[in-house]
Amino acid sequence: IQVLVCVGGGCLASGALEICRALEEAVERHGVQEKVRIIRTGCMGPCAAGPVAKVMPDGVFYQKLNPEDAEEIIATHIVRGEVVTRLLYREGGTGKPVPEMDRIDYFRKQHKLVLRNCGIVDPHEIDDYIAADGYRGLARALTELDPDTLVDYVEQSGLRGRGGGGFPTGLKWKLTRQSSETPKSVVCNADEGDPGAFMDRSILEGDPHAVIEGMTLAGFAIGASRGYVYCRAEYPVAVERMSRALDQARNGGLLGEHLFGSDFSFDIEIRMGSGAFVCGEETSLLASIEGKRGEPRPRPPFPAQKGLWDKPTLLNNVETFANVPIIAQKGPEWFAELGTEKSRGTKVFALAGAVNNTGLVEVPIGIPLGELIYDVGGGVADGKPFKAAQLGGPSGGCIPREHLNVPLDYESLVELGAIMGSGGLIVMDDESCMVDVARYFLEFVQEESCGKCVPCRVGTKRMLEILEGICRGEGKMEDLDRLEKLGNQIKESALCGLGKTAANPVLSTLRHFRDEYIAHIRDHK
Ligand code: SF4
Repeated sequence: IQVLVCVGGGCLASGALEICRALEEAVERHGVQEKVRIIRTGCMGPCAAGPVAKVMPDGVFYQKLNPEDAEEIIATHIVRGEVVTRLLYREGGTGKPVPEMDRIDYFRKQHKLVLRNCGIVDPHEIDDYIAADGYRGLARALTELDPDTLVDYVEQSGLRGRGGGGFPTGLKWKLTRQSSETPKSVVCNADEGDPGAFMDRSILEGDPHAVIEGMTLAGFAIGASRGYVYCRAEYPVAVERMSRALDQARNGGLLGEHLFGSDFSFDIEIRMGSGAFVCGEETSLLASIEGKRGEPRPRPPFPAQKGLWDKPTLLNNVETFANVPIIAQKGPEWFAELGTEKSRGTKVFALAGAVNNTGLVEVPIGIPLGELIYDVGGGVADGKPFKAAQLGGPSGGCIPREHLNVPLDYESLVELGAIMGSGGLIVMDDESCMVDVARYFLEFVQEESCGKCVPCRVGTKRMLEILEGICRGEGKMEDLDRLEKLGNQIKESALCGLGKTAANPVLSTLRHFRDEYIAHIRDHK
């Protein structure tokens, strides 16, 4: 019997380690050490219900645990074989205990590819990852495929960059492979900075070997021998688990010289960022790895031609790399079965705000927004009416109620003035003020602007001043046109993605909630 205890960031913060220790003591007290293994796993998803644990093979899911519950779980469930009903995760609204995880809507409606091992394997143990078919994709690539075929696999799979832009991953790999200069590098962007986003952190904490395997496959495909994980220093648990996983991979012959007896050698090191949001932008991230000030530079040249130390560099984010092992193992057709015609696979979202089931979810790309919020998320908290969903963090936009059926894919969201982004999704009820939401995000990007170019440095400041005036009740009707004009000018002329998207929250709320701006101005409040 396995008792899987989530030690992802959320559950750690609510006391998961004390639960583990209490369970281990109870196991000893009852003398069932031979029968039970207490496993510390990565994020299972329902963060608001933490600390959470799952008893396998029964599939019984316990929530909101405290150390005193450990005795009851071991004595009642493990020794006597009876489920502790008072600790069960309850299905939204019904109040009826549902013992099997797979029958809970929150889990049933998800499709876990990237999070396939999170909450199941022990991220501290490479053997757990290998037992879950880990490194099979790498073994297959190095013994059966050549680099060009692997690039074709990624291209045919239809995988697109999960960091926000949605650029076709296979094309990026192909362009980097075609660059003739050496040495090449692979860089994993783990500088997740959007407020409320924790997809990449959860993958690194819960399944670090999937990222190592994906990066190593990328190295083989493009002809690189070194890789870097650029991770923000605010993620100490992710850094610690990744470091341990790298050591284990090296000791197990899965990183280093002549992997699987081939000519291919590859190793990875971690570089830590220091909390500058702009370092999530690829050119400033590369500058930061080089030890320079983290400022963007104009593109072209793109990193595929001139990246780290002016040599070709492949840069993808954590979630993108975590998709790759399964494509190498099962083939592109298998992967392409999920999602929409233009956007294949799944997307991980961090559900936050006024929604009942906040947490980490993974769904096929193209699922309607309303299905994600109501069927997976359990609907708006306290039964209040849905007002809007903010997608894509500070670069994103707000989707109003009348577009609840929009499919969550790259193109459909852009049409509505939002973006998929890296996967942050904040639900708002009818009490949210959309002008205030826009002001919050603009304030965030204004503070994070690196100041290198005028449109972003000065333009966002002027926009913020106008918005603050409106919020103080000092706005004028012509402010709305000024906001739109400034926003569009910044979009056109800013140097990097941060500036180009900085006005999105304002522009999208002006588009969908203009009447709220007008009410603020008219009513002077
Ligand atoms: Fe810096 Fe903003 Fe210009 Fe980007 S757009 S280079 S963050 S000032």
